[in-house]
Amino acid sequence: MSMNKEGCPICGFADITVLDNFNCATFEICECCGSESGLEFDLHSTPEHLAKIRRKWFKEDNCKWWGNKKLIPPNWDPKEQMELANIEISL
Ligand SMILES: [Zn+2]
Repeated sequence: MSMNKEGCPICGFADITVLDNFNCATFEICECCGSESGLEFDLHSTPEHLAKIRRKWFKEDNCKWWGNKKLIPPNWDPKEQMELANIEISL
């Protein structure tokens, strides 16, 4: 199981550190999808588990920006964001 320390494993938002140097959850909350490292997911989360959270955000919440609207990147495109993070959108 591998997870990048940087970037949200759910939505691909880059500006979040999800694991520290010891691979422990940082309890940072993703501004984009609202997932919390250590609560919604951690190093041991399965791809299925991550996909389940992602699906909920993607379908039920329509990729809604969760956090501070001022932090939304210019021309933000959630699908593009996921593609750049190599996150597969499996619905
Ligand atoms: Zn996220």
